[in-house]
Amino acid sequence: MTTIVGVIGGGQLARMMIPAAVNLGIEIRVLAENDGMSADLAAFGVGDYRDLEVVLAFAETVDVITFDHEHVPQEILRELVARGIAVHPGPDALLYAQDKLLMRQKLSDLGLPVPEWARIENVEQLAEFLADHGGRAVVKTARGGYDGKGVRVVSHAHDVDDWFMALAEDANGGALLVEELVDFTRELAQLVARRPSGEIVAWPVVETVQQNGVCAEVIAPAPHSSGKLAEVAEAIAVAVAEGIGVTGVMAVELFETTDERLLINELAMRPHNSGHWSMDGSTTSQFEQHLRAVLDLPLGGTAARDAWSVMVNILGGPTTGSLVERYPGAFQAYPSVKVHNYGKDPRPGRKVGHVTAGGDDLDDVVYQARATAAFFQD
Ligand code: ADP
Repeated sequence: MTTIVGVIGGGQLARMMIPAAVNLGIEIRVLAENDGMSADLAAFGVGDYRDLEVVLAFAETVDVITFDHEHVPQEILRELVARGIAVHPGPDALLYAQDKLLMRQKLSDLGLPVPEWARIENVEQLAEFLADHGGRAVVKTARGGYDGKGVRVVSHAHDVDDWFMALAEDANGGALLVEELVDFTRELAQLVARRPSGEIVAWPVVETVQQNGVCAEVIAPAPHSSGKLAEVAEAIAVAVAEGIGVTGVMAVELFETTDERLLINELAMRPHNSGHWSMDGSTTSQFEQHLRAVLDLPLGGTAARDAWSVMVNILGGPTTGSLVERYPGAFQAYPSVKVHNYGKDPRPGRKVGHVTAGGDDLDDVVYQARATAAFFQD
């Protein structure tokens, strides 16, 4: 059986796979972008994931390749596959997490619910879309966006001239994605895991709260999500996972609209911030599940341990000292809240850790999670 998992990317997602691997007695090796990253604990070395030779040398030392992010170029992924290396998720699936235009096209082809969208190459096409959609829309760069960068709400056809100019200078050409400005009541995320042989499991659908384009809080399960809503969210994510043949953990970010429809916003093909609660709040954490899935092992149970789990990100961190220096106060006040520290230097807006609280009373669980996170932010 395959036993050495190689993770490309050394961020907190790779870091959180490490204890899961240790518990299972599976060796894990990380190819980090730089020294001193979150996943240094299992670093095999430092190297550029855009360099074929670097990635091949790393791949030779492991049995399966997986990822902390979705940025490894297609040419490299395809070369790994051509050489018989197991890559999960594979390039045919990852493509749809790398390029939002291809993702919208594929989901539309699969008949899944997405915002109205179009591919645009110039100001005239944007003007036409705006005219057809009440004068407001959301424009996105197809590639390279994260945490709200590469997403702009526009009300004028010249609002993204800088992006059109960048496209004109790009030898590969390309286009932007424009979509309707969705009137949503809240954002949800449906996390699933699929193994190569086809088994799929789903966690309860969760509500995600964003601040300035960054995930701030997650409530599991999403309030008022028993019954139909949960069923629909799960059915959508299962259809995506099967339709694109993803392997490993995948998060489907959804908008719940004012007329109670679910529309797919984004896909992430790796463990995701919306699933961090599962480390403390579910029978199987998304990190263990990801390892099981990429190794094609039977998947673990996904039931919630508590009636409610609330995860709050520690954004920025303390302005003086380290997270660890704040442990005495936080642990004393909230002994049951679990704290996760990514080992990163504090910096404004940076995700440096998260906390998860669980219990029966949602208001109390929210309060405990927020109050604990507040110990680490000033
Ligand atoms: P990123 O890849 O940077 O995470 P997203 O496509 O997820 O970008 O968009 C970031 C945020 O912008 C979303 O979480 C949502 O709040 C808002 N957003 C994105 N698309 C739309 C849309 N079509 N209508 C309304 N809000 C949107």
